[in-house]
Amino acid sequence: MTENHVNNMGVKKTNKINTMRAIFASERISQRELADKLRLSWPTVLQNVKELQAQGLVEEVGEFESTGGRKARAFASIRDARLAVGLSVTQNHIGIVLVDLSGELVRYVREKKVFSYQDSYFESLKPLVTDFVAKAGYPDEKILGAGISLPGIVEESGQTLAHSHVLGLHNVPTDTISRHIPYPCQFINDANAAGLAELWGKPQRRNTVYLSLSNSVGGAIFHGRAIYMGDNRRAGEFGHNTLVPDGKPCYCGKQGCVDAYCSSNVLSSHTDGNIALFFEGLSNGDAALRSIWDEYLGWLAIAVNNLRMSFDCDVIIGGYVGGYFDAFSGELRARLEARNTFEPDASYLKGCRYKLEAAAMGAALGQIEAFIQQL
Ligand SMILES: [Zn+2]
Repeated sequence: MTENHVNNMGVKKTNKINTMRAIFASERISQRELADKLRLSWPTVLQNVKELQAQGLVEEVGEFESTGGRKARAFASIRDARLAVGLSVTQNHIGIVLVDLSGELVRYVREKKVFSYQDSYFESLKPLVTDFVAKAGYPDEKILGAGISLPGIVEESGQTLAHSHVLGLHNVPTDTISRHIPYPCQFINDANAAGLAELWGKPQRRNTVYLSLSNSVGGAIFHGRAIYMGDNRRAGEFGHNTLVPDGKPCYCGKQGCVDAYCSSNVLSSHTDGNIALFFEGLSNGDAALRSIWDEYLGWLAIAVNNLRMSFDCDVIIGGYVGGYFDAFSGELRARLEARNTFEPDASYLKGCRYKLEAAAMGAALGQIEAFIQQL
């Protein structure tokens, strides 16, 4: 194959993917609108639409009112032509989502399930996932696969979980976890998955750092729209930046890590492990919780300011604490503004779109994106 031929194939594929994205982004759209929006010729658009129709991803849904001349045909996406499952495995819970080709959440469950490295645990994932899909009313043929997010370092091949302090695992083959799940599975680090979910469908969002504040603290770094993994796939492990020399013990065995000061446990441990109760008490004026919160925000402001100084881009606050962003964004921004060397405002600080199950969403969206890329 000549270089030109390869380039032409690449252009053709990109045009087809862009045609699909444009149809999926509209209620209904005409051939002319597609050609204008994508700056493509009519025949190219028509060819792409025909191929997408043949693949069962797009359908004709009537005609637009005539503005003189022939009425234009209207095309629309078939959002649930394919779907992907996202599974988030954590120490105490399993979250499952079903996502359609447009990235919409179709169904979601979260179950208390304490992780244990035993076949009985992995076996139990099968009925959990298959019942979940069956209840949504979709046949297996429509399911592209399952993305599985794990709180740990997943090797590039996706075949080994190199390290998970949280689950107490080292160098575990990932098919140990997925062998009972009847779909093709892909593995991803939880914070990377959650960060990907935040970027999905937002082409204007470029360099971004995602800070996940859940039972453990993690993060992801996006350079442009590509995830930066580092030399050992440990980039974005912000939870183990040192915040206080010889400070509070961290679950990793070191002292003074960001995790020991900024995880959601720091707050929820005062309200029976329930983060919602913490923020409820705080908004009701509970003085003890207020003082815990003030201390927490002080540490969080240092951690976030360090991210801004290091990466000079937007910082999204996610995880369990990020779900309450609207309740504290003003207070946190004020602290960040006071600390910043270069700029008087902290508008770079952003809330997250996904309050729950961002990691499972991102894992599922990875499967959807892989499908779109091979169109
Ligand atoms: Zn640590």
